[in-house]
Parts: sequence; C-alpha cells; structure tokens
Amino acid sequence: MMSTGTDIGHAAAGRDFIRSIIVNDLEAGRHDHIVTRFPPEPNGFLHIGHAKSICLNFGIARELPNARCHLRFDDTNPETEDVKYVDSTIEDVRWLGFDYGEHLYFASDYFEQMYAFGEHLIREGLAYVDSSSEAEIRDARGTVMEPGRPTEYRDRPAAESLDLFRRMRAGEFADGAHVLRARIDLASPNMLMRDPILYRIRHAHHYRQGDAWCIYPLYDYAHPIEDALESITHSLCTLEFENNRELYDWIVANVPRGEGDMLVPPKSRPRQIEFARLALDYTVMSKRKLLQLVNQGDVSGWDDPRMPTIAGLRRRGVTPESLRAFCELIGVAKANTRVDIAKLEYAIRDDLNQRAPRVMCVLRPLRVVITNWPEDRVEQLDAPFWPHDVPKEGSRPVPFSRELYIERDDFAEDPPKGFFRLAPGREVRLRYGYIIRCDGVVKDDDGEVIELRCTYDPATRGGSSESGRNVKGTLHWVSAEHAVACEVRLYDRLFSDPDPEAVDDGDFRKRLNPDSLVVIERALIEPSVAGAEPGARFQFERLGYFTADIVDSAPDALVFNRTVTLRDTWARVTGAAPQKSDGRPDRRTAPSRRKAQPEVDAPEKMVARAPDPRDGRLEGRRRRLTAEMGVPAEQAEVLTRDAAIAAFFDAAVDAGATPRTVAKLIVNDMPRESRERVGELPVGGAAIGALAHMIDSAEISSSAAREVLAVLIEQGGDPRTIVEKRGLRQVSDEAALSSAVDQVLQENAGKVAEYRAGKAGLLGFFVGKAMAKMQGKGNPAMLKTMVEERLRGEQG
Ligand code: ATP
Ligand code: MG
Repeated sequence: MMSTGTDIGHAAAGRDFIRSIIVNDLEAGRHDHIVTRFPPEPNGFLHIGHAKSICLNFGIARELPNARCHLRFDDTNPETEDVKYVDSTIEDVRWLGFDYGEHLYFASDYFEQMYAFGEHLIREGLAYVDSSSEAEIRDARGTVMEPGRPTEYRDRPAAESLDLFRRMRAGEFADGAHVLRARIDLASPNMLMRDPILYRIRHAHHYRQGDAWCIYPLYDYAHPIEDALESITHSLCTLEFENNRELYDWIVANVPRGEGDMLVPPKSRPRQIEFARLALDYTVMSKRKLLQLVNQGDVSGWDDPRMPTIAGLRRRGVTPESLRAFCELIGVAKANTRVDIAKLEYAIRDDLNQRAPRVMCVLRPLRVVITNWPEDRVEQLDAPFWPHDVPKEGSRPVPFSRELYIERDDFAEDPPKGFFRLAPGREVRLRYGYIIRCDGVVKDDDGEVIELRCTYDPATRGGSSESGRNVKGTLHWVSAEHAVACEVRLYDRLFSDPDPEAVDDGDFRKRLNPDSLVVIERALIEPSVAGAEPGARFQFERLGYFTADIVDSAPDALVFNRTVTLRDTWARVTGAAPQKSDGRPDRRTAPSRRKAQPEVDAPEKMVARAPDPRDGRLEGRRRRLTAEMGVPAEQAEVLTRDAAIAAFFDAAVDAGATPRTVAKLIVNDMPRESRERVGELPVGGAAIGALAHMIDSAEISSSAAREVLAVLIEQGGDPRTIVEKRGLRQVSDEAALSSAVDQVLQENAGKVAEYRAGKAGLLGFFVGKAMAKMQGKGNPAMLKTMVEERLRGEQG
C-alpha cells in the first residue's frame, strides 16, 4: 500500500510546487490522507479561473490514494448570495468531470460552531467586543510606518465582552454598534494581525439560514474554521491571500479542539498555500464585474457564449476535456501572469479536431448555376466526416445538383493579386465534387453580382485529377435545393482590449468589443445536419468549429454558435503564413506528387480564409504584435521583417506558447544568421513553440532553453526529448530547493549577518549560491522567494 502511494505520489510531485509539498507531507507522515476543498462563494457563476482551482483541488484528490476534495459553499455573507448560484456551481463542477461524492458542505452550517468559538476566544482573553465604530477602528489601526493604538474597549473584562457578544447575537443592537475583534498584536508589521474584526452585526436575511442570525463572521475568521472543522489538510487559495496566512494560522492554532461536531478534530491542522490566479486576455474574471455585464445587458446572461463563465463556455461549445487540458497546459505557479487567450483556443481546437465531424455550411450564400449540368440530375457524393489523421470513420452523402451556393466572398469579379478563389474565367474545385469554371456573372439593377454561371468538368469528380489541371482553390458549397436554413452566431472576444482592467478608470465596459457577436440569420447548411440535436458539434469546413446552441436551437430550427475559428485569425489578420484554401502556391500540391496526394486537402489543413494579402501587411502585423500580443516594439520589428520569419513566429505561437516568450527566444537567443534563413533550418516554428511553452510552464529555465535552441538549430529534433536527454528539466521540488537554501545560509553565516545588518544587495548572492547547489536547475523564482522568506523568518 505504501509503495502504491509513493509511486503515484512521485508522478504527482513533479508536476508543480503544490503537488510537491503535498507529496512531501504524505511521505513525512504528516497526514494519512489528503483532503482539499474548492470553496466558492455563491454570489455568481463560476468562471474559467475557478476551473483552474477546481482542476487543481479535485485533480489532486483524484491522483492520490485515499484523498478527497470537498465542495464547500463559502456562504457567510448574506448580502450577495443566492441559491441559484449554488445550483449553477454544482452543475458546473459536475460538468467539468469532478465528483465530490458525499462531501458537499455549506459554511453557513457552521455558524453555531463559529459563534461558540467566538465565546471561547473571549474567555481565553483572545478576543473582545469593541464598541467603537468601524471608522474609529480603522483609524486606530495605524499605518505600515506606525503601530496601532488600542481603543478604550481593548481591556474590557471578558465577562463584559461575553455578555455583549451574546446580546449581539440575540439581536439587541443595530448594525455597526459593536464588533468582535481578536486580541493579537497592534504593533504587528502585518496589518491584518492588528486585532482583526471577526464578527459584525448585519440584520440581513441569509438565503439558507433565513433570519436565524444577525451577526456574521468575516472571511478571515470563517475560512480557517471551515477548513479545520472539515480536517482539510491543504487549503489552496490565490496569491492575494498571502498576507492572510498568518491570521489563518493564528485562528487554526486557537480554536477549541476535541471530539464531536462542535469542536475542531484534535489533529486537524490545515495549511494554506497560495498559487497564482488565472487572468485571461480579452476578458475580465471577477464575479462582481461579470455580474455588471449581466445586469447592464451587455450580454444575454451568465451563460452568454462570450462570457468566461463555465456556463458560457459550455454553451459556446467548449468541452470539459478542453478546459481540463487548458488548465493542465497553463500549470500552477506562484507568479501572477496574464494568459494568452490563444492557449485556450488551442486547447479547444485540439479537442474538437477529434470529435467534430466535418460538414459544409455557407454563411453568406451566392448562387451558382452549373449550366452544363442536367436540370433534374442529383448526384450523391460520398464525403468523409473525418480527415485522414483523425482515427475515425464514417461518411455521408452530399447532394450535388445544378444550382449550388458558395460563399459570397469566395468570388471576386476583379480579383486582387494573390486571390486564388473563384473569378470570371477561373477554375476552382468544389470540395468532394467537381472542378468548375466561372463563365459569367448575373447582376441585379444595382450592379451587385447575384448569380454565377459556371460549367463543370465531368472528369474531375471527387478529387481524382486525371484532368491534370492545377486548380489552386477548393471551396465549400451546398446544393440549393437540398440545403437547410439555419441561424449562425459568430462570437468573438468580449473585449477589444487584451487587458480591459489595465486602465483603472472605473469603466472597463468602455472596452467591450462592439463586434463580439455577429448574427447571420440565414445561412445554408448541407442536409446531413438537418435534425441535429442541441449540443451537437461540427466543424464547418474552412469556417471553424460550431455547436447547435443548447438553449435556442431545435432539431427543426437550427441555431449554431461558433465555438472557435480554425486558427487564430486575430494574430494573423494580415497573416503571412501559407493559406492553402485560397491556393497560394504550396509544395504539397506540386504536380509530381498529385497522384499520392490529392489536391483536395484534408479539411483540418484547409485553413480559415484570411483577408486577401495587401500591401503593408507586414506593417499591420507588426502593429498587432505590439498592440495585441504584448511583444516589445524592437522584437516585433525583427519578427515582421519578412514573411518567412513571420510565419515561423506564428507556427511557434500556434503550438501553444506565449507570444512574448516566443519573440524573446527567436530575437534574443537565435543567432542572426539562423533567423535570416529560418526556411532552411532543420527546426520548424512548432518546435520552437514547444520549447517556449516549457519556459512558460517553468519546466526549464531560459538558459536551459538557449542550450536546447542551439541543438535544434544545429540538428532539429524534439525539444522535450533534448531536455530529457540532457537533464535540463527545472527542479520545483520544495524540499530539494529548501535544503539547498538551508545549506547556503549555514555555510555563509557571515554574509547572513551582513545582510541583516542592512546589506540588502546580498540577496542575489544567496540565490546564486543556492542555484549553483542545484546545478543551475532550481526554479529561480521559488529559490528567490525561499531565500527571502528564510532571511526574514529567522530574523523575527
Ligand atoms: P471572484 O473575484 O471572481 O469573485 P473569488 O476568489 O472571490 O473570485 P470565490 O468564489 O471566493 O471567488 O473563489 C472560490 C475559489 O476559486 C477560491 O479558492 C479562489 O481562490 C479560486 N479562484 C477564484 N478566482 C480564481 C482565478 N482567477 N484563478 C484561480 N483560482 C481562482
Ligand atoms: Mg469573491
């Protein structure tokens, strides 16, 4: 049994610093089993940040033997909470694929214990009722520079406090008349320790407790008690609670213990550990702000598909698997960063690629009449649902007839340079069907093209290319008589600013993206999709992944939501990467290889149509790199010098890495000669992206990355394999780092004394020494934090 635990533990330990701590605690025998919890306050719907916390807490419980994770509603604040948020939270946690079994708890069920502990603290001399106003209390608390002052009530006899506390509970006083405060240390450097308020009077109705209470505990008091009562071993929270940890520990140390429901179990000692909260580009992530969007009508509700809520993402067509994969991809670390939304989109595409059958839908139809096709003839073409690299089979008949529709912007009467789709006198292939040529156009009175007259070549059916013609474009289409009308909702980013809250002007709503929803009321979809159930997912070839809306779609009245485009059209609106579907030259369709490789691409390679290339596109990209991807100007300049380097960069970002890391790697760490001939290197952009991703997730250091980069440029290969072979993986194991730090501080006692005497510059020296002990493989951020903590801790 022990060995199973340890094996599983080791697998978990390597993943992040929290898992390392937990596995160490298990191995040191500090706990028999691990208990985590996910503690949302039911004051809004869960968002993708909560998904990170859910995956962490429930994930740990799943990985370790005998471990469990509680779902606990932290519902101690009567004003904003509601049972509808309890219901939505339960639905979302289940939908994400996690199970709390019987471990569902409500903090408000512990009000009786919390109150009793308050009396206990008063009797122990550790708390008192303060009858000052909250403003007076705040004022007497002092500042970072000066200690707090006691109010006249601090030394009030315990009996008097006890009496007042009981009468507070009994409802004898108005809101604000008294508070219960802990008696800790008014001179503490940590302001939170200066006699924090534990209870407040609030004559308010609680959604679960009704009017049973008129005093409510504060978060800093309630939370550790909830954890302690449930014997939580590791209480994981976000970084902003770092300062609260001292108070958390104080409460845990001072609550009464013993057997029975009314006391904290004797051995229960929850430990708080903080991790970075998720912030995602182009959205906001606080329930309060999301509530504003809902209340102001900026979105249709908490489950609007543009919302970063789990309910919104679900309705948009995102799968639980891809959300879990995304959480895995971003990892758990101790530094707050904003995550590029491209990473989320990457995880979504990666999953949908395997589960969404390919079909054809025309969003903005333009009629095509095949003049040499007999009036009544309908030919059923056999079209596979899946491209060859998805290991699934199945196909559907797609009717081809005399009148078809293609996408309006797949035709240009006067095609610009580089446009390889349909134009007068030109040929294209219709996907799974024939090559057609445009012989003429029909216009309405306003001169608008309303119909194309085309002829088809019978020898070119389904991609067989005996004709030997080199046709560059392949278009999606539907048969006019057979197509089914549907509504399509094209969703885009909710905000046009990557960081809508960066400017603190109190109105993040000003930065909403006005084009975040475009509704196409009458698109036409191939008949095989008729009757699709709500929630069904498809890839509309060349357009993106779509799902039948779970609220508004019905089998006989289809409404589709665009979940995600086929590639990141934002990062490359003026992209220089090869665009297969509009047929710019591509080696794969060279005539010599056409037998083995049909000219119709596998659908997933038929990329979304980007706007036509125009002059100055590199200039546009350069601006986008700086404005939207946060790449420094000089680097953006280098990365847009020519189409090859731009495409190389795109491929790296597509692989899931942060644009900034990729930019830095290519511009700063790649020799100029290599950068100027990326096309000839044995390494492609995707591998560079994989390498950058390892830096992002703190698996390797930047200097290790440079070493790997040199190998890649020289010989190509897989960055992960190179990292493993050379043993470059960075160590984030807390025990290992901690022992290195301890050794360094012991061996350099003299320097430690100098540091304490005020030579703050020595910090780098200690970190450097510790890093050397780790053979350069220690996680530098963690090492630095540990050195700082150790130097501070041993001092005070
Ligand atoms: P919000 O500001 O959105 O209201 P919150 O932290 O107040 O967030 P809670 O309902 O208290 O919301 O959070 C429940 C749990 O989810 C907490 O443990 C919290 O740390 C975690 N959590 C909340 N937001 C994030 C985030 N953006 N990234 C990671 N974890 C988060
Ligand atoms: Mg909150």
